[in-house]
Amino acid sequence: MAAFQAQRKRKLEEGVGAGDGEAVYFNGYLDHAVHKKMLLDKARMKMYREAFERNAHLFKGKVVMDIGAGTGILSLLAARLGAKQVFSVEASAMAKYCTKTAEENGYGDVITVINGKVEEIGTVLPGDVQKVDVIISEWMGLLLVQESVLDSVLYARDQFLRPNGVLFPSHARIYFCPVSMESEMNVWDDIEGFHFSTLKAYAKDQLIANSPLRRHLAASDLVSSPKLFKYFNLKTMKVESVQQMRSSNLPFVVDRPFDAIAVWFDVRFAYCDKSKDSGSGGTAVILSTSPKEEARTHWGQAVIVLPQTVPAEKGQKLHISCEMGQSEPNHRLYEVSFNIQ
Ligand code: SAH
Repeated sequence: MAAFQAQRKRKLEEGVGAGDGEAVYFNGYLDHAVHKKMLLDKARMKMYREAFERNAHLFKGKVVMDIGAGTGILSLLAARLGAKQVFSVEASAMAKYCTKTAEENGYGDVITVINGKVEEIGTVLPGDVQKVDVIISEWMGLLLVQESVLDSVLYARDQFLRPNGVLFPSHARIYFCPVSMESEMNVWDDIEGFHFSTLKAYAKDQLIANSPLRRHLAASDLVSSPKLFKYFNLKTMKVESVQQMRSSNLPFVVDRPFDAIAVWFDVRFAYCDKSKDSGSGGTAVILSTSPKEEARTHWGQAVIVLPQTVPAEKGQKLHISCEMGQSEPNHRLYEVSFNIQ
């Protein structure tokens, strides 16, 4: 098969701003609806709550730092489990509501909100504290890495986490898989008995231009088994490894033509019970955004629609290389490219 290249600039999605710098980005987090969407994401909340509760011994009496605390929900969960002190770092003005909510729920003396970027709050925390036992954060975006909040978590790890400290989540993985957009495109073929073929082609062009799209795919949209693109251990990884990512010639066996590639992720909370730091224990809590997962998350999957359909027959083998890197003018944006052969 001829080499096939698709390159897409990734852009930030609704609500979190794009291109106009940090102020626009953080102002996006003043919108209550952005936080509501996260707070009402049942799968997200369940996995964080379970991971914390199963590891209650890692919170009780400990000093915790919440990176990007937002409304403070993760800080509240940690405080409820008996954390001695929680530093909730939030750069947006949502910090004000985070403080109020902590007070209203009786945790005003445990939770200390720091309104600033974690990179800019200095090296000594209120009360002369320099190191914390636990870092908690919900930093994941579309494509896992969108918004680049992981960079800030790694900064906090290096600056504030004590040597044997723990991170929640502890590991993350990115997957990708060729998919068919047929189920989405077919609606144009019959509406009240009319077909809209030219409009269908126009719609497809718009989807290509707007990629990556946020979608909730069905397992039946996948034309192959997914492949692991990247695996990160948050305790040991270097920030460079998430700023530029590449994986060459991953082998796929597809069962039909495809016109898009979907990217999704999971994160793992590895300390539970006997699972230790390896992340391989059977009891580790996993928050997955896979289309095969029954519970939908607010992330859905990132879908990159290709400029042309890749023709393929059942059982056809092909190789896909993928590169993702932070964009030069705006590090919160990623550029994604695929090479299909
Ligand atoms: N922890 C909350 C909010 C997650 S959204 C929850 O789980 O619901 C991510 C939050 O991180 C946003 O509120 C954003 O303003 C904040 N944030 C992103 N980068 C940051 C940084 N470098 N320093 C402090 N806060 C940051």
